Amino acid sequence: MSSYEKSLLRKRLLEIRSSLKEAEKDSLSEKIKQNLFGLTEFKSASSILFYASFTSEVETFSMLKETLDKKRCFLPKVFKDELKIFEIQSLSDLNPGYCGILEPVTKREVGLEEADLIIVPGLAFSRDGGRLGYGKGFYDRLLTKTSSMKVGLCFSCQLTDKIPMNQQDQKMDRIITEDEIIYCTIQSYREVPIDK
Ligand code: ADP
Ligand code: MG
Repeated sequence: MSSYEKSLLRKRLLEIRSSLKEAEKDSLSEKIKQNLFGLTEFKSASSILFYASFTSEVETFSMLKETLDKKRCFLPKVFKDELKIFEIQSLSDLNPGYCGILEPVTKREVGLEEADLIIVPGLAFSRDGGRLGYGKGFYDRLLTKTSSMKVGLCFSCQLTDKIPMNQQDQKMDRIITEDEIIYCTIQSYREVPIDK
């Protein structure tokens, strides 16, 4: 699938997301948090991989604050072209790292398989579970190593009809916005036999 198509979509969706005002972003993030906390699989998970939000992403620190004393919380850190996962005990276990994003101190590395639920950031999502990232493929590479539930968080303005997906792009199982919890279905298709 054309990477040109993806880059056009990235530019457009980044502009849309960046146009959200700070206060609006915070109140939408709060609703997304409530929707996430209501998700059955979130409630039953004992360990969660979060991401540390930066710039215009759905805010996750308030989610982390409320979860830290209830469940094991993990965050990713960039090492060259891969993400490694570390457990944190408090928000003071974070330092600015790759691109200024807060990253965990490297004391307690954990295997991705230890995360019962994985929260995934994105620039755009489609209802069938498609995801567009910043174009580095970090999460595509990471998510090949797990079969745990993947939950994309986004504002509803980031939902789009179709995201160009290739074989390496990893799909979400759920997408949570301020308005809804989307159960992503795998789009299956049936080949129509050619008439002789
Ligand atoms: P993003 O998912 O961040 O929007 P892309 O899907 O465009 O970015 O992927 C960015 C790059 O990462 C592509 O060159 C892609 O081939 C590479 N990539 C994605 N998944 C893998 C993988 N599992 N192994 C190796 N490279 C990968
Ligand atoms: Mg991708």
